[in-house]
Amino acid sequence: MIEAYHKDDRVKRMQRRRNQDVCTESCDNAIAGAGTPNEPGYCERLPLRLESHHALRLCDESKRRMKTCNDDFSVEQDEARNAFATLLGDTSDGALIKRLGNKHASSVSRDEMDALIKILSTIFFPTTWSDDKMELDFKWTDLRGWPSCMGDYTERAHGGPMIRMCAFNFSGAQKDGPVNRFAMDRLSTILHELVHAYLDHYACRCAPNPRSYDEDVEQFKGHGRAWQRIACSVEENALSLVGLELDLTRFESIQTSWDGIMYWPTQEELKRWRLKSA
Ligand SMILES: [Zn+2]
Ligand SMILES: [Zn+2]
Repeated sequence: MIEAYHKDDRVKRMQRRRNQDVCTESCDNAIAGAGTPNEPGYCERLPLRLESHHALRLCDESKRRMKTCNDDFSVEQDEARNAFATLLGDTSDGALIKRLGNKHASSVSRDEMDALIKILSTIFFPTTWSDDKMELDFKWTDLRGWPSCMGDYTERAHGGPMIRMCAFNFSGAQKDGPVNRFAMDRLSTILHELVHAYLDHYACRCAPNPRSYDEDVEQFKGHGRAWQRIACSVEENALSLVGLELDLTRFESIQTSWDGIMYWPTQEELKRWRLKSA
């Protein structure tokens, strides 16, 4: 797709753009509900379905869910927040967050990472009973050959869904907070990969249109417009949701994926991303 796009000359590209129809599928509908039940104009929130929503509608939905005030948290979300607070508050020698903050985190088991991922996913990407769920696998992997890589996400169509992380690498982007920078690094990496997972699960792959999968999700090797927007929302809400200022290395994601650019972001978009290097 990338090659084909760049092989076209400019005239052909413009022609192709004009011929592209905006998607007419209902996947472009807003996911949020509107109005008051039993009153005219009321519509219920759409249930999340696998590969069924335009990526930018998912950005709106995840932003809305993260900003929702405390009263609107589900029981499940509240339980996850309490569980996370308990983990943060555990000062015993074998505490999970302490071990996650060791320079090498390999003493944290796969089951413990699974549980941590589940907790963070429930807090930041809550689902309702009618939504399809994200079922993620986790594996530690050795990425010491790629020292700047903390982890990666394997898509559903390519043997996933799975988050893999390296217990030895760290980004150097995080500062010490209520937990040390190595733990901050790994918690931020989980959230970084969860944004990939969320889009992989729920974003539709409609035929080319101005808000298509390849432009909004896939460019910059998966760190396109939709990923940037959701990652921004995670960073903006992390302090109120989990008490930590997380850094999802958004700038570095673009920097290291520069050869994966297919469409230039607009100036307005760039301003909204508030990119900064660590
Ligand atoms: Zn990434
Ligand atoms: Zn679509």
